[in-house]
Amino acid sequence: MEFEFSRDFALNLDREDSLATYRNEFIFPVMNGRPALYFTGNSLGLQAKKVKQILLEELEDWGKLGVEGHTEARRPWLPYHEFFSEPLARLVGAKPEEVVAMNGLTVNLHLLMVSFYRPKDKRTKILCEGRAFPSDQYALQSQLRFHGLNPEEHLIEIMPHSETGIVDESEIIEVIQEKGDEIALLMMGGVNYYSGQLFDMEKITRIARNQGIVVGWDLAHAAGNVPLDLHNWDVDFAAWCGYKYLNSGPGGVSGVFIHQRHHGQRDIPRFEGWWGHDKSSRFEMPDEFKPIPTAEAWQLSNAPVFSMAPLLASLELFDKAGMEALRKKAITLTAYLEFVIKEVSIATGQELRIITPLDTNRRGCQLSVVVPGRGKDLFDKLSSEGVIADWRNPNVIRLAPVPLYNSYTDIYKFGEILKKAL
Ligand SMILES: *Cc1c(COP(=O)(O)O)cnc(C)c1O
Repeated sequence: MEFEFSRDFALNLDREDSLATYRNEFIFPVMNGRPALYFTGNSLGLQAKKVKQILLEELEDWGKLGVEGHTEARRPWLPYHEFFSEPLARLVGAKPEEVVAMNGLTVNLHLLMVSFYRPKDKRTKILCEGRAFPSDQYALQSQLRFHGLNPEEHLIEIMPHSETGIVDESEIIEVIQEKGDEIALLMMGGVNYYSGQLFDMEKITRIARNQGIVVGWDLAHAAGNVPLDLHNWDVDFAAWCGYKYLNSGPGGVSGVFIHQRHHGQRDIPRFEGWWGHDKSSRFEMPDEFKPIPTAEAWQLSNAPVFSMAPLLASLELFDKAGMEALRKKAITLTAYLEFVIKEVSIATGQELRIITPLDTNRRGCQLSVVVPGRGKDLFDKLSSEGVIADWRNPNVIRLAPVPLYNSYTDIYKFGEILKKAL
């Protein structure tokens, strides 16, 4: 598509956008008396308007019913997590029994690694992308130390290229093929939080699994952003957070995927709790743990209803809009942002370097922009003009135009503000 950096052109794209009305389902922060230009849905998604109603209903049921709410609430709390299985499964390309909403992301990564990182004999190493999200690095390093292994020796990190900031996929594949029999686990981010690089999860999974490596994906920046097909890709496990693209609110509940082939095993190493126990006998309080033959076996505690309720409102919107249509809009919306950034760069003579891959197949809806020679002052200027974006030291601005609630006009307005600020 031929883009133009003009208000009319952006308005026209908005008029033709079949997803444009979803914006009205969300609450935008207000800055300077106007709705902010919100580009941080990759960090904390916006609140759906329906969240308040759902939360109030849960509070009302608790007040009215007390403990009876476990079975009598309009959404009974006892099977509360089950309300998420179908929509989450659709979102990540899984069977409903392969997903469960529980805990926080890093907690889940640990729980999953207890089961799926099992160093043995020569096969001890973990392969990941260099400069992964800090929490993932800490989780991987501490898992290694937990097994008595030195991270310096047993963690293989494929570093991003020093200039481009991008990890070369062929390098990952080479390491898998060369050192495959030493690697116990591959655990990577599906979309890198910093550069916005989207990895070919299907291909990497296939090659790694062919080498006998267990494959787990951190989908914090991928779930609700890019199409996923975890079951068919034959991924072993995955986890994601609910509060980024999935709009579950601060600290909202995470989700996990565990491939069917790992279900129903009693001898799998796993940290267990009563919520993973067979539902029909759970309240007989038996001594012996009998795992639910689904991903639910990894649940420990009963569902934190208030931190899960907001996700229901958001998943309903994802279901209505459909991931395919969202992805289609994300591609155009992000391409428009790329175009506008280039136009501003030409108009101002200021270099604006997009480190996110320009190939739309290798990125979701985030662009990370380096502004050489300009520091936090530029970012602060943007903020004072009502732009909510994300600053990473020393000089990267991360912008995520989210197809559920961002518009082409948002991007046009951002371009005007950026031009003025430069
Ligand atoms: C956001 C993010 C996290 C956050 O972890 P929490 O446990 O939810 O606080 C972890 N890993 C990645 C890759 C992330 O993007």
